Amino acid sequence: MREGKVYIVSAPSGCGKGTVLSAVFARLKNYYFSVSATTRAPRPGEQDGVNYHYISREQFLEMVKNDEFLEYAEYVGNYYGTPRAPVTENVKMGNDVFLEIEIRGFQQIKEKLPEAVSIFIAPPSLEELERRLRGRSTETEEKLRGRLEKAEKEMKYAGLFDYVVVNDQVERAAGEIISIVEANQNSQKSR
Ligand code: 5GP
Repeated sequence: MREGKVYIVSAPSGCGKGTVLSAVFARLKNYYFSVSATTRAPRPGEQDGVNYHYISREQFLEMVKNDEFLEYAEYVGNYYGTPRAPVTENVKMGNDVFLEIEIRGFQQIKEKLPEAVSIFIAPPSLEELERRLRGRSTETEEKLRGRLEKAEKEMKYAGLFDYVVVNDQVERAAGEIISIVEANQNSQKSR
């Protein structure tokens, strides 16, 4: 049986990657979307165990100590990490595994799993990104500025990814990601 592939998806926050990925998953079979652990508080509507595992700083550091993360990073004052076990299990089961993580996490995975396929979702422009982030307005101005500055820096890393997908329209961007997954499945079959 073929093993699953690991896909790393990164995007500056506010790029609509959640919406794009939902549209992708509505059309994909045999996939697992990795649920990260984080120390940040849930946003309205987010659910523990679905969007993230919301844990304390102490719990997070304990998991780091026990080597339970495939990668982890601090992002705008909070920790985020990918629990290792579900990723390994799903790859073995033949499921394609999607990690939605930031740049430093991507760099760690590239070192540990060089065969992982990386996709960067870019906003049509930084102006559009600011508009979307303000529209969400769940954060203080300071946090929002922090995310925008981070996004500007992150855009510079787009070239390190195997693929860059511009989220101008959700369905179009999702279609492009599906094509990438199909292309990788086909290239694996013919090997
Ligand atoms: P947010 O707070 O907007 O949900 O996420 C902030 C950033 O953390 C996003 O860029 C998101 O992709 C990233 N992130 C989420 N989970 C993980 C993870 O497990 N590891 C790393 N390195 N980044 C993550």
